[in-house]
Amino acid sequence: MKQRLERRDFLGMLSAAGFGGLVASTKDAWGLEAIRNPLATYPDRGWEGVYRDLWKYDSVFTFTCAPNDTHNCILNAYVRNGVVVRIGPSMKYGEATDLLGNKVTHRWDPRVCQKGLALTRRFYGDRRVMGCVIRKGFKEWHDAGFPRGSDGLPPAKYYNRGRDEWLRITHDEGAKIAAAVLKNIAETYSGEEGKRRLREQHYDEVCVEATEGAGVRTMKFRGGMPLLGITRVFGMYRLANSMALLDARVRGVGPDKALGAKGFDNYSWHTDLPPGHPMVSGQQTVEFDLHAVEHCKTLVVWGMNWITTKMPDAHWLTEARLKGVKVVVIACEYSATSSKGDDAIIVRPGTTPALALGLANVILREKLYDAQYVNQWTDLPVLVRMDTLKYLRAQDVFGGGLAALENTVVLGKNEKEPPPLQHSKTIVSEQMRMEWGDYVWWDRATNAPKLLSRDMVGKNSNVQNPLLDDSVVVTLADGKKVRCRPAFDLINEYCAHFDPKTTEEITWAPAGAVELLARHLAKEPGTTLFAVGMGPNQFFNSDNKDRDTMLLAALTGNIGKISGNIGSYAGNYRVAMFNGAPQWINENPFDIELDPNKNARPRQYWKPESAHYYNHEDHPLRVGNKLLTGKSHIPAPTKSMWFANANSILGNVKWHFNTVVNVLPRIEMVAVNEWWWSASCEWADIVFGVDAWFELKHADMTANTMSAHS
Ligand code: SF4
Repeated sequence: MKQRLERRDFLGMLSAAGFGGLVASTKDAWGLEAIRNPLATYPDRGWEGVYRDLWKYDSVFTFTCAPNDTHNCILNAYVRNGVVVRIGPSMKYGEATDLLGNKVTHRWDPRVCQKGLALTRRFYGDRRVMGCVIRKGFKEWHDAGFPRGSDGLPPAKYYNRGRDEWLRITHDEGAKIAAAVLKNIAETYSGEEGKRRLREQHYDEVCVEATEGAGVRTMKFRGGMPLLGITRVFGMYRLANSMALLDARVRGVGPDKALGAKGFDNYSWHTDLPPGHPMVSGQQTVEFDLHAVEHCKTLVVWGMNWITTKMPDAHWLTEARLKGVKVVVIACEYSATSSKGDDAIIVRPGTTPALALGLANVILREKLYDAQYVNQWTDLPVLVRMDTLKYLRAQDVFGGGLAALENTVVLGKNEKEPPPLQHSKTIVSEQMRMEWGDYVWWDRATNAPKLLSRDMVGKNSNVQNPLLDDSVVVTLADGKKVRCRPAFDLINEYCAHFDPKTTEEITWAPAGAVELLARHLAKEPGTTLFAVGMGPNQFFNSDNKDRDTMLLAALTGNIGKISGNIGSYAGNYRVAMFNGAPQWINENPFDIELDPNKNARPRQYWKPESAHYYNHEDHPLRVGNKLLTGKSHIPAPTKSMWFANANSILGNVKWHFNTVVNVLPRIEMVAVNEWWWSASCEWADIVFGVDAWFELKHADMTANTMSAHS
């Protein structure tokens, strides 16, 4: 509209010319003529640039997305006018090389999920922690000079957590207050007087003694999961180690007697540790990387919701299906992953150990097992004495000493373990070697016992035609006769209880499906991958779940092969990948190395402790009068807790209500390093705002199980 008709003119025209005149005069002014060519007369279209420029950016940078899912995707942040407006995959995985120059495929790209794409909402979100805040009552306790009752506890009026006011302070002020509180806690709970106070607070006597008289032992530090940032997150354990300086000062002891604080765990605390894996294999966890799935013929997804929880790895499953991999999903619900299965077996929660035994039952009964694998790679042929129910020791049969081992280094009593980088063989202590001894199997060809050492596995195995499913009387070196049965025979007897019908009754898996799956798994040994989830770790029978699925995998030759293996999937965050971590965490605080070209001289002053005990009111496990918690695991009372990048220790804690109501009141400081206001912050005393992942300025290391990157 070019001309504007003023209200005053309009009224004038109206009175002078009546309505006809008005219509005639407004025709041009209001553009009432029909528009013949809308494109020629269309108003300014500059605004369309908003859409055209939507994807324009001034600069781009790369950062690592590091939430609890531990996928650690390397993402691109697109910046416009100083603000990250968009996040996307970096598409650079295919260019990554390792130290030897090996490259990975571009098929790792794009590595991202919907949550990563929407991270700007979090980075600039209304719950972003800015600066440092302290709870009002906590500050008042500090300002009042730490008043305490005769039992050592601060007055409850200072601990109105979750309802109190928050005060803004600087990071420097926050650090000073936190340090003063730690010093006061160390002073309060050190020595005999410290123990007396803890006893008055009704801590278990063994927990009081677990402090060893050092108040710093009541301080618990926890980095979040290590792989999220090996220096950033694990710095909390370095801080725990440094508490030895405080202990030395408070108790007046030297570096030789000083003790550090305690460090809470991650992997086992999250119940991500599959308990049966170390029992069967000695390894914390046996696993394969999820991209290997396209190399198998059958994938059994067992209690794991791959599509929902392994987001950037979901494409490997899709691509495997395109390549013809049969997918069987065992879950207690029809999950997102079940919809991708060729077969979905819905089971009763907590019963799948019985399902594994039911599958083993069919394989054993129909003699479908992979005999060569069983003979060479498992201990199933090993003889068990029926008089003691222990393994028959080779030395008891053949006399003489232990067999010489070529693939195992046995450390003498005072011999030190070499640094991790020099480990090329298994290293065991002399004591462990003695405990192991050597084993015996029965050779059907010669009808005689044969020695089996730990070296004799796989291609080094001498087990050719063993007795598997019968008993035999063995004459010992001292002339005594002992009835023995192979481990295989004992397991066979046990599995006989789990016929398909019984298995159906226990697990709800149809008997027909049990038989079909068992026969299918046995048909082509070594071609099935079992991806087992961490959810089943939470059941009390969780170790059985691992031991039974591993038995099934062993019977079908599916352990340790690229196309046939078993794994447990929680987060991909094994600190073992960074075997140099002790250089950082455990650097001796009394002997810091300032030359960046020299190695640190580690000395571990801090002590690990499972957070489970804190979660259970700092109780060790007692049943009646019996103390079941072992000596090395006795927890100390918790008087302070400081954690970083972790909400699972308080906000998402199991048994949250009890923790808040009964556990927190006895803890005198809860400090949190966080960039997103979580429920942990809500229950904290002091919150240190930190850089979000896209703001990190220091180089760090992270990894997933396949690719470590820095
Ligand atoms: S999968 Fe995890 S690490 Fe990767 S983008 Fe999503 S949230 Fe971030």
